[in-house]
Amino acid sequence: MRKPIVVGNWKLNGTEAGNEALVAGVLSEMSNLADIDVAVCPPFVYVPQVVGLAKGTALGVGGQNCSEQSSGAFTGEVAPEMLSDVGARYVILGHSERRALYGETDEIVSEKVKAALHAGLTPILCVGETLEEREADETEAVVRQQLAAVIAGNGIKAFERMVIAYEPVWAIGTGRTASPEQAQQVHAFIRGQLDSHDARVAQSVRIQYGGSVKPGNAAELFGQPDIDGGLIGGASLKAEDFLGICRAAADTVG
Ligand code: PEP
Repeated sequence: MRKPIVVGNWKLNGTEAGNEALVAGVLSEMSNLADIDVAVCPPFVYVPQVVGLAKGTALGVGGQNCSEQSSGAFTGEVAPEMLSDVGARYVILGHSERRALYGETDEIVSEKVKAALHAGLTPILCVGETLEEREADETEAVVRQQLAAVIAGNGIKAFERMVIAYEPVWAIGTGRTASPEQAQQVHAFIRGQLDSHDARVAQSVRIQYGGSVKPGNAAELFGQPDIDGGLIGGASLKAEDFLGICRAAADTVG
């Protein structure tokens, strides 16, 4: 039995006052969400604030990216050790916006995964195809390659300490969600790829779905056998919406 995990990706949004209100809203229902893991990933500068707000609760905090370096002359970078140092537990890596807008290759993502694991963080590895790739029937090839790079760089056992997020790029921030069947098909494919290396790892790794998840579509998505929660963008910025999605994940347990 895999414990569902719901993570909010706040992207480039937030203010100190807004974060305080949002986290207070989420914390107001944390006691009903003991059967799932819940975390939020604010912009780097707000990580310490949110860690402070979440202190003593089950709400986890993560970064949205990190460097593959741990220190040195890398202006503007943030090391995974720094995220750990200020109390973060997770880090989103290989998000499609990082891949598309900042040139992150599969190899760079694999290096970042290595650095994050070394720093004791749980990487949330994002994989997924563009609309063009889906229409060219390349979804499986793309996802296979994205996974293969991380397996080659870190070994299959590394996935015991990771979370995967399947995020079809065409569904991110577009309001267009993969159908539960479309999502399940790719989730099963991902698990199958891991299974060809190690059956136990494949069964234990949690695979989130991400892409325009809302309170109204979360239950159907999370009801699929290989979907273990969600990575949530836009809907994680409103406590009530994020909690609605968390409740849908909690309802799949027990
Ligand atoms: C994301 O950015 O990871 C994401 C899934 O965004 P949204 O929920 O807004 O589609």
